[in-house]
Amino acid sequence: MKKSLQVVKKRILKKEEILRDIHYLDPHLSSFSLEEVFIYFNTTKLEILKEHIKSIKLQKNNHLDKITTKSCFCVDSKGYLKDLYASEVLAVKQKERLYKENSILLNVYLCPNRCGWHLSRV
Ligand SMILES: [Zn+2]
Repeated sequence: MKKSLQVVKKRILKKEEILRDIHYLDPHLSSFSLEEVFIYFNTTKLEILKEHIKSIKLQKNNHLDKITTKSCFCVDSKGYLKDLYASEVLAVKQKERLYKENSILLNVYLCPNRCGWHLSRV
């Protein structure tokens, strides 16, 4: 009995860790619960989520590589660095994608430091 409780506890901790990773890596999902994240990625498996985290990390690294010459430290309401888009067109594309996929309505605005473009919640 004691052992199985520990297994459950370990699983919960693992889930929390994955959710934290997702919130950190994708600020657009930062208000999502774990159930909503599962729906968002169209899966029920923790392993699949882990794969998504890996690919988000990779994308993020590529993204950071591209903007190393121009980067800002704008953060969202939770203190996470905001995604930076090199052009308004790219930002609008992402905005449209997020709206289509998650019905999240976002605003495109010029970075106050003029590094590029950001998205913010309406
Ligand atoms: Zn900025």
